[in-house]
Amino acid sequence: MSEDLYSILGVSRNATDDEIKKAYRKLAKKYHPDLNKGDKSAEEKLKSVNKAYEILSDKQKRAQYDQFGSTDQNFGGSGGFGGFGGFGGFNADFDLDDIFGSFFGGFGSSSRARNVARKGSDIGISVSLSFEEAAFGCKKSVRYQRVVKCSSCSGSGAKNGTSKTKCRTCGGTGHIVMGQRTPFGTIQTSQSCSSCGGTGQVIENPCNVCGGQGSVRSYENLEIDIPAGIDNNQTLNIRNKGNAGTNGGPYGDLHVEITVNPHPIFSRKDNDIYCEIPITFVQAALGGNVTVPTLEGKAECHINEGTQPGDILRLKGKGIPFIHGYGRGDQLVKVIIEIPRYIDDEQRNLLKKFEAISGPKNYQKKKSFIDRIKKLFSNW
Ligand SMILES: [Zn+2]
Ligand SMILES: [Zn+2]
Repeated sequence: MSEDLYSILGVSRNATDDEIKKAYRKLAKKYHPDLNKGDKSAEEKLKSVNKAYEILSDKQKRAQYDQFGSTDQNFGGSGGFGGFGGFGGFNADFDLDDIFGSFFGGFGSSSRARNVARKGSDIGISVSLSFEEAAFGCKKSVRYQRVVKCSSCSGSGAKNGTSKTKCRTCGGTGHIVMGQRTPFGTIQTSQSCSSCGGTGQVIENPCNVCGGQGSVRSYENLEIDIPAGIDNNQTLNIRNKGNAGTNGGPYGDLHVEITVNPHPIFSRKDNDIYCEIPITFVQAALGGNVTVPTLEGKAECHINEGTQPGDILRLKGKGIPFIHGYGRGDQLVKVIIEIPRYIDDEQRNLLKKFEAISGPKNYQKKKSFIDRIKKLFSNW
């Protein structure tokens, strides 16, 4: 999947939903097989137009594509968007009738349109992860309900060994033509056949597992590979794990919305991890080594002599792995300098001695502050 989906539809990256739909309609007409009989390249073009529209018309998939350049579960992009062949694969909210309606003046709801294969609907579930699970990836078992093709009748709805038969009421056309006498002559009207629901076919012996529906609800147990580096509120899209399609259409997708639970010490922004570490004012003045918690346990960290409140120590490569690619972010440790609230007599004496031999050379900030004030007030 190397070609950019936006350029396939000839729209800009910030095109509105409406612009995308318009561009798609235009191209779907242009490359439609009925107008390009036997033209292989038109067929290929229509396929990629369909694929592009399938993703860009879906808010969630579009966001995922914008972010990762793919909507595959593993974000690898190598698998492409397979499994979307044929011309029956138009999206559920947009069918052939819609295109032809505006093009050929409409031909009503023919049985062909009623029997068109439609993709099943998508299902959304949510999964919550610990901070570490999101950082390093994990496997999560989920159980959810979905509509699957009935295995007893292979989705036909007709009892095993039998098949659908032509509707006798409409003769298989899916509609009934009636003549109506009016002062202007006889007007023929066409109505959808109520015996077969406009499909032109009826099931005489319904499957006893699904009752003729062709599908059943069942529980799905799925182990999901959560990629390392996933973040709160991101969604994984797993193809074909949604509800079964109708008339042999493909399955919908499963959207897994990720919630990452907060960590007691760490917080995260993009791929960097943040934490704070309290040190004593003496440590700050003298410098030295301190032990810092990281996702992988303890790390020794050097503090410079004269470290200031709010200084940030950066631990390279100790952050969150990049979900799409290699490497990791950093860990940023903010230094909190603690001044003792209570000191005893011995400590007080030592500090007084220290203060007596300290001067402007030790306190640059204080010195420059006083210098500035002196310029304003001659009597300071
Ligand atoms: Zn069945
Ligand atoms: Zn009928």
